[in-house]
Amino acid sequence: MIQVKKAAVLGAGTMGAQIAAHLANAGVPTLLLDIVPKESNAPAKSVSEARPSGKASEAERVQEPDRNFIARAGLEAAKKAKPAAFFTADRASLVAIGNFEDDLPQLKDCDLIIEAVVENLEIKRSLYEKVEQHRKPGAIVASNTSGIPLKQLAEGRSDDFKAHFLGMHFFNPPRYMHLVELIRTEWTKPEVSCSMFGFLDERLGKGVVVAKDRPNFIANRIGTYGALVTMRTMLEDGYSIEEVDKITGPAAGRPKTATFRTFDLVGLDVLAHVVKNLHENLPDDPERETFVMPEFVTKMIDRGILGNKTKGGFYQRKKGEGDKREIWTLDTATLDYRPSQKVKFPALEMAKNVEDLRDRLKALVWSKERVGAFLWKTISRTLTYTADRIPEIADTVVEIDRAMRWGFNWEFGPFEVWDAIGVEKSVAKLKEEGRAVPPNVQSMLDSGAKTFYKQENGQRFYFDFTSSRYIPLSDPPGTIVLKSLKDRTGVIKKNSGASMIDLGDGVAGVEFHSKMNSIGGDTLEMLRFAISETEKNFVGLVVGNQGVNFSVGANLMLMLMEAQDENWEELEMIGRYFQSSVMSLRYSPKPVVVAPFQMVFGGGCEMVLHADRVRAAAETYIGLVEVGVGIIPAGCGTKEMLVRAMDSIPADMKDADPFPFVKRAFETIALAKVATSAEQARDFGFLRDEDSISMNSDRLIADAKKQVLALAATGYVQAQQRTDILALGAPALATLKLGVHLMKRAGYISDHDALIGEKLARILTGGDLNHTTKVSEQYLLDLEREAFLSLIGTRKTQDRIGHMLKTGKPLRN
Ligand code: NAD
Repeated sequence: MIQVKKAAVLGAGTMGAQIAAHLANAGVPTLLLDIVPKESNAPAKSVSEARPSGKASEAERVQEPDRNFIARAGLEAAKKAKPAAFFTADRASLVAIGNFEDDLPQLKDCDLIIEAVVENLEIKRSLYEKVEQHRKPGAIVASNTSGIPLKQLAEGRSDDFKAHFLGMHFFNPPRYMHLVELIRTEWTKPEVSCSMFGFLDERLGKGVVVAKDRPNFIANRIGTYGALVTMRTMLEDGYSIEEVDKITGPAAGRPKTATFRTFDLVGLDVLAHVVKNLHENLPDDPERETFVMPEFVTKMIDRGILGNKTKGGFYQRKKGEGDKREIWTLDTATLDYRPSQKVKFPALEMAKNVEDLRDRLKALVWSKERVGAFLWKTISRTLTYTADRIPEIADTVVEIDRAMRWGFNWEFGPFEVWDAIGVEKSVAKLKEEGRAVPPNVQSMLDSGAKTFYKQENGQRFYFDFTSSRYIPLSDPPGTIVLKSLKDRTGVIKKNSGASMIDLGDGVAGVEFHSKMNSIGGDTLEMLRFAISETEKNFVGLVVGNQGVNFSVGANLMLMLMEAQDENWEELEMIGRYFQSSVMSLRYSPKPVVVAPFQMVFGGGCEMVLHADRVRAAAETYIGLVEVGVGIIPAGCGTKEMLVRAMDSIPADMKDADPFPFVKRAFETIALAKVATSAEQARDFGFLRDEDSISMNSDRLIADAKKQVLALAATGYVQAQQRTDILALGAPALATLKLGVHLMKRAGYISDHDALIGEKLARILTGGDLNHTTKVSEQYLLDLEREAFLSLIGTRKTQDRIGHMLKTGKPLRN
């Protein structure tokens, strides 16, 4: 296996700088190089940088231009990128900058060199020529080109260079987009592509798809074709931009940005570049003429209307009456903007109630109105075009489906869509319309196979066009796919909120599956059942799932209803039950590993805080956000933040004032801070040093299971409840309260915020204690419940909860 200990990224533009940032996220020291700016516009270095002594004169300063200016600007842009490119600000220190004229000799230390300079064959080739002089033999060189054939790029290079050269096509933004297309040439050594597959998957956390060396590879070829067909159909059949976005959004299993908002995000110039490349480089493609931009889009580009990076695209944000923010939509005929119109389609309204995407797609595509007509026309063209591209762009349906899911955030890839709407039925309709049926698909049907995928005895298969038979589709190595596991082995127990499953090798699992994985009584019941079953029959337990988010927290609806009915006793019981369930994670006789990912709020965060160990996905957004709904963390979260605050005082500071540590915990909860990565969650105290991170969330459950086995094998000792927590008492409470009061007086927080702040301060300082006292966990849990009950009894908290349930946003009252 080739180890990547140090990397270089050549080109510090949009992609290069962010790829460097992601390498740093993975802990790889990275050199980021770009061209030296032209003398005339190269700004000077700062004095301190030019002369560490700081003695440079103004005249000297002007004479010494910053030769690294472009790479520096790229790095600065990556530091400010939104969403963040770096997991934490200090990761940026792993990126060193330089330029192509002075710093190429440093490539001799790099194991991997990723090139991301402008999309120009000659520029890339001449850079490789220079790289060749400095890279060490065996160093891997990868291009992030979106469309230039790799074979052309490698021409003229030495055998060793060619054997270590491949395409690594990241998607923008590289930290967040799961897909990387990996492209081999005829010269690439198998161990090179194999090693890089592993590196991209495990170290960078990417979903890797092997693509053929064809123009724009898989995702952009199919995605661009689909986009152009969508635009043309809109123009031919008289749909509006809003209508198309409504039809091609989440209802059809596509992202919220649907078609046109995605273009605005990507930039019309970037799209146009891909379209032009496809048209030029696909002379024999039967659909070549589809790869031409509609005239109105070309006009938009000519006028500098490029999307969000300019003052508008297909949509434009405007300030309306009273500074109200409004969205306006482009009129494709005049290129003027008009107020956006609300779109309502009966078929889409009906589809809202259909949870399963398969059923929804079927209902929508075959519906007899405008939605059905549009979807059938666009989807059927994309499906037939895609089927005809095998084996040109990929060997099997699997790569294409993965590429579209991971690169375009589609819920289903094309062949999964086709299975959902029915292959036979679609083919019959194609024939009825006199359209060609892809030979691949016709021979599949002729062989008796009716779907691209099938499930038999818990095993998933895909249909392979080359051998004309079904081939087992195994889960990628190093992963556990809960759905396929359950298909094979069933569940131990299930209710509406969660299931207990057998993860194999003596490890049990609890999987949440309620709506947004909110935690209600059924979830807690399953957790308690699993803990007691694990005690009897398993070596340990993983708490995790593979939904969209780990958990958005406690079921607010339930609490609001009880509060509105003034069922205080019931609420007190719910509180106790929640607390004892969370505590049982920590104090169970067998190890429990919690595996959070994406959103982990409130009660979900409290579970994480009480695991023996956490195995978190790198993309974990975790926080105690209860104050947003007018309460405080009362499922052991406030207690635990105090425990951690006190435990975090370094041994050599034991005599120091502990107040700042408590204040920090207070602020984390009072400001509802949410960490924007698992790494940052460490800084916020949600993860500890012993907790670990999986870069690739597909591996999370399998990694958490390994963690359970490791804990079980190394003499796991059941923890004992703590009675030694230092509570600072009345003086600290008074200081925190003063802070709250000042915030209120300055107008930063409302009266209700202040009330919540005071209740929180009381728990974190130990309630009615005159002085510093050691208290037990249970003592603090009782304070949590008391504060929770008093707050949920207020009108304002109930309004906050109601607003959150209705709008998904916090109410400031
Ligand atoms: P960019 O324009 O933001 O950055 C290109 C960089 O190349 C700049 O920093 C520039 O200084 C440098 N450069 C300019 N002239 C040069 C020269 N003569 N020699 C060497 N370097 C030079 O472009 P980008 O969007 O970051 O794209 C970089 C590569 O990544 C391209 O091959 C592109 O096709 C590919 N790509 C882009 C995206 C995307 O969404 N932007 C996605 C995937 C792949």
